[in-house]
Amino acid sequence: MKRRAFLKTLAAGAAWAVWRSAAGEAAGAKAEEAGAAAAGAARRPNIVVFIVDDMGWQDTSEPFWTQATPLNRKYRTPNMERLAREGMKFTQAYACPVCSPTRVSLMTGLNAARHRVTNWTLQKDKPPDASHPILRPPDWNYNGLCPEAGLPHSVHATPLPAFLRQAGYRTIHVGKAHWGARGTPGADPLRLGFDVNIAGHAAGAPGHYLGTKNFGRTGKADDVWGVPGLDKYHGQDIFLSEALTREAKAAVSEAVSAGKPFYLYMSHYAVHVPFAPDARFIERYRQAGLDQKEAMYAALIEGMDKSLGDILDHLAALGVADNTAVLFVSDNGGLSVHGRGGPPNTHNLPLSSGKGSAREGGIRVPMLARWPGVIKAGSTSGQFVMIEDFFPTIVEIAGVRDAKQVGGAIDGISFVPLLKGGQGPADRALVWHYPNNWGPTGPGIGAFSAIRQGDWKYIYYHDGRGEELFNLADDIGETKNLAGEKPDIRSRLARTLGQYLTSVNAQTPINKKTGQPVAVPAE
Ligand code: CA
Repeated sequence: MKRRAFLKTLAAGAAWAVWRSAAGEAAGAKAEEAGAAAAGAARRPNIVVFIVDDMGWQDTSEPFWTQATPLNRKYRTPNMERLAREGMKFTQAYACPVCSPTRVSLMTGLNAARHRVTNWTLQKDKPPDASHPILRPPDWNYNGLCPEAGLPHSVHATPLPAFLRQAGYRTIHVGKAHWGARGTPGADPLRLGFDVNIAGHAAGAPGHYLGTKNFGRTGKADDVWGVPGLDKYHGQDIFLSEALTREAKAAVSEAVSAGKPFYLYMSHYAVHVPFAPDARFIERYRQAGLDQKEAMYAALIEGMDKSLGDILDHLAALGVADNTAVLFVSDNGGLSVHGRGGPPNTHNLPLSSGKGSAREGGIRVPMLARWPGVIKAGSTSGQFVMIEDFFPTIVEIAGVRDAKQVGGAIDGISFVPLLKGGQGPADRALVWHYPNNWGPTGPGIGAFSAIRQGDWKYIYYHDGRGEELFNLADDIGETKNLAGEKPDIRSRLARTLGQYLTSVNAQTPINKKTGQPVAVPAE
């Protein structure tokens, strides 16, 4: 199959393409009318991306499965419940298994196999991969996303907020960035199209959550983890999630006062390790019998949710809630491995495993959307959404046409039609590619490539441990490997996955013994 035809098959069915095009034309005509009738930019929808770090699919009182689980009863997230009531819940939304790949996909519209920032980033020219007995990682883009050409080991792309800023948006970054390695341009949100940067830099975790600990900021040259830009809260009894929320509200107020549409990328450091006790919420969980670590985690979740509620209230108070699209998502599954300071490894049940894994616990994430007048309140979508879909979706919401990415390709598909109640193709394939070694071990953790199409998911491990085929409709916990029993389905998915990886020139790890890259999956 020719590459273009193949990609079209992979990305979308023909009916879907026609539907999208019709919807796009209708939306375009509508936008033109609105533009003629009103003042143009000022009427454009504001956009809020509310992204949580390392939050699992079940770490919420809003159930994303067909039934509520004990985990849904353990956590308290009334504002996620509110968002679900007022908007749309996506039950099959996906991200990459770790932070930076997800964040670069959201910023560029590119799949991780294509942008090659396949693992988390931190220091310039220093890949953080753990050593592995038989594999060496490929020469991946460990310097992360770069807005300029020419930096080795980086993906050069035009970041999403640069398109929005050009279209007249005030672009506001709050919280965790984690797009580029320390000492590269991509580490600084102000170099990535944001007008405002509050507390974002290279690191993917906070030095500390407490203001009394200055959020871990030391001010020394080797201060990698200290959260920058929040000095005015140093020494105060304030939790990081609260400080970020107050700053976000102030930045939104300024944009509204200036009469500009805004893009708020509200990116919590919560609920990533290292945990600290949030005094506002932790007592409830201690009294419920949770141990200290789990109580800290549950309080981090509730503090994040309080921030969501505060921002929704602020939009209402400013009179802009009806013209604001709010998109809620997590950047990977919940941390579940031992030895990394997270909750125990049962905590994504009924899903298997957690962060870093090819299993659903590593990649399936909670997602909600509210857009009054467009999204039907209280609706649910089981359509697939992948993290790179946020890029084309957001530029479409903003009315930006022809957002051409460097290199010309975009892997994501706008989910605006889904927000309007439409259907996606039943045969859309989603691809994950992680040719790295995160470090911890557990089910589905290790270098892998994976594909989901319909109810079926196929995982190919690069270390030779084999293949897995699961039917997620029957077995959401991925307990029964059907690779041997269903050879036709195994072959079809392996072929589609291998063709896609070849088409984007994906990198695979090097076998230390042979010195050769691991082969992509094939029939
Ligand atoms: Ca993360």
